[in-house]
Amino acid sequence: MTELSRRNVFVGAATAAAATALTPFAPARAAAPQAGKQAPSFYRYKVGSYELTVILDGVRPVKLDNSPIRNAKLEEVQAVLRASHLPTDKLGFYFHPTVINTGSKLVLIDTGNGPGSRQTGTGQLPDNLAAAGIDPKTIDVVIISHFHGDHISGLRTADGALAFPNAEIMVPAKEWAYWSDEGAASRAPQGQQATFQNTKRIFGPIADKVTKYEWGKELVPGITAQDTNGHTPGHTSHLVSSGSASVLIQADVTAGFAPLQFHNPDWLVGGDQDGAQAVATRRKLYDQLATDRLLVSGYHIPFPSLGYIEKAGTAYRFVPAPWNPAI
Ligand SMILES: [Zn+2]
Repeated sequence: MTELSRRNVFVGAATAAAATALTPFAPARAAAPQAGKQAPSFYRYKVGSYELTVILDGVRPVKLDNSPIRNAKLEEVQAVLRASHLPTDKLGFYFHPTVINTGSKLVLIDTGNGPGSRQTGTGQLPDNLAAAGIDPKTIDVVIISHFHGDHISGLRTADGALAFPNAEIMVPAKEWAYWSDEGAASRAPQGQQATFQNTKRIFGPIADKVTKYEWGKELVPGITAQDTNGHTPGHTSHLVSSGSASVLIQADVTAGFAPLQFHNPDWLVGGDQDGAQAVATRRKLYDQLATDRLLVSGYHIPFPSLGYIEKAGTAYRFVPAPWNPAI
């Protein structure tokens, strides 16, 4: 090796050492910070030419100190949870309003738990609408399935204003008749009193402006109201059809933690007002959906609440539709 070439080697080695010291990707890496929160929860899918967006209003944590099913013991519920690989000491209740873009109208079905519920992990419809790029002022029609607070309380903002100021509000006529009847309120059990009061708070100032609709009617082109009463007297599901495709937005045909009522269709949640009728409706509808292989979306089915129902002996099995990155 010549003197010159030895010097070149030393210079080269020194340059390489300096480069290593300066590189930002040194071998000893710091741990990446954990995100600690989930992605915004909305999910889009197509039904014919309509674009639908399921929007999560949140998940309410429920401690299982008592049975969430009024005609089953806690241990029976826990056995189903254990078989489903779920914790047996707690549950999460999901809430899913749906936005339907028909191409000419922007329609919202149900409105979530409202701003008063945010400390319990729900009331997130406005945040997730924003994340989905949907401005509440652009909603043309709000369709309500029934009057329980988790479906109507999102109609008003924290200061009492209308959350969807330019929307026509459509409600089931039978539901309106029951929850606005002072006589029914005076005869009703304690468990229903909060719904009577909340109905007054939400709808009282706009009673004349609300559209009351009948079952079997097409409310918006392609969206038809279907009688699924039992959970409440006017409980309504909505069949959305475009071209040859359809989805049934069932609302609370199964409620609470919905999978429990697929396993045991005779089980009743606290809100199942007419228990016998709720069970009859559930069985009749699910037999039909299983036969027709119709896509269903459930307000209380875990996110994104979309799938198919199959018969499983005398009960049912919910088969979730897989995430589809194509819309
Ligand atoms: Zn509900």
